[in-house]
Amino acid sequence: MRASKKKGLFAWYFNTSLLLRIFIGLMLGAIIGIVFGPSVAVVQPLGSILVNLLKMIVMPLILTSLVVGAASIQPKELGKIGIRIFIYYIVTSALAVSIGLIAANIFNPGAGLELAVNADIAGKALNQPKFMDTFLNIIPKNPFGALSQGQVLPIIFFALTFGIGISVVRNSEEERIAKAGETLFSIFDGAAEVMYVIVRWILEYAPIGVFALIAVVFGKQGASAFGSLGLVTLTAYVGFFIQIALVYGFFLVVNKLSYLTFFKGAREAMVTAFVTRSSSGTLPITMRNMNENLGVPKKIASFTLPLGATINMDGTAIYMGVCALFITNAVGMDLNLTQQFTIILTAVLASIGSAGIPGAGAIMLLMVLNSIGITIEAGSAVAAAYAMILGIDALLDMGRTITNVTGDMVGTVLVSKGEKELDLRKWK
Ligand code: ASP
Repeated sequence: MRASKKKGLFAWYFNTSLLLRIFIGLMLGAIIGIVFGPSVAVVQPLGSILVNLLKMIVMPLILTSLVVGAASIQPKELGKIGIRIFIYYIVTSALAVSIGLIAANIFNPGAGLELAVNADIAGKALNQPKFMDTFLNIIPKNPFGALSQGQVLPIIFFALTFGIGISVVRNSEEERIAKAGETLFSIFDGAAEVMYVIVRWILEYAPIGVFALIAVVFGKQGASAFGSLGLVTLTAYVGFFIQIALVYGFFLVVNKLSYLTFFKGAREAMVTAFVTRSSSGTLPITMRNMNENLGVPKKIASFTLPLGATINMDGTAIYMGVCALFITNAVGMDLNLTQQFTIILTAVLASIGSAGIPGAGAIMLLMVLNSIGITIEAGSAVAAAYAMILGIDALLDMGRTITNVTGDMVGTVLVSKGEKELDLRKWK
């Protein structure tokens, strides 16, 4: 009897649509987390399994699919796609910080907290990486090292170079060389296909991982988000919502693409981003959704999505606008227009610099604060305000990451359409 019940659940699990299962996992996780509080942390390993599986596949997936993509695309075409997606990424990020700032100016989170007077705001300069170094580090000194350390930008650079190399070799006039190029291409092509299969397997486990990840966050932080920090959370989420619904909606509609279709095709990736809080970790699913559900060719998705997961962080940009204002409000400092403009500029740069991993945005927020003369000193009021938002960072990070990943997907769809490479049959 017991066995048959187990079998029933097993059969139900594999026969139910993935999306429904993920949704049930999400809801169940939130409820169980709120009911059981911090003790729900015992389920954490179930969530770590999902995160580890995604991390396991992400670098091999980026490398193989990008090599295949670059080897099948004309270098000129690649340049065009690169420029288009870059402009889209920068423009939407700048819009995002502005939305965050406007929302924060309206809701005024942190006002009245009076953590300190201005005199307390002092400290030492932060050690920021130099801009030029960040730029130069895109070229990996050791591609294998970059691969093993999971550095996405250097691997994008290497994979593009290697892929273009393969396409040169494939087209060689000498038969032996052309054949060798073709073989190498097939090997990478086959390896990439295997990665896609593994992603499909990982997705089968996703609902259980989603349940555990959400339960732990809600168990730990559910209450505080409704408490004194509720207004920051609300303001940030209003910003995320505006960006996802209005800004991306606008871009899609202007390009004559249905928002509903987009949403339906992208929702697995969106939910995964929300619960894993990692753009990079979500990449395998983002790439799969774009290709299989929305008709983006792999050669474009394998380039624009890893790039977006690394440099395009609209949610993080919104968060920076909101939190910079929260902190200045909390310590009773007024921001003038020039300072708000400075925030826009540095937040775009900081969001580019944020890694697509959980919590990265919260660290880069320090750079934005620094740009308007605020530094964190132990025991200061700024440190207290910063600590407050760090306390609920998991919740804010969920919203940031879903926005980040959605932005990458919208950009990818638009560039594919612009290149006339989008399979419009998927949009009917
Ligand atoms: N977690 C975010 C991401 O992966 C980055 C951030 O912390 O803002 O996209």
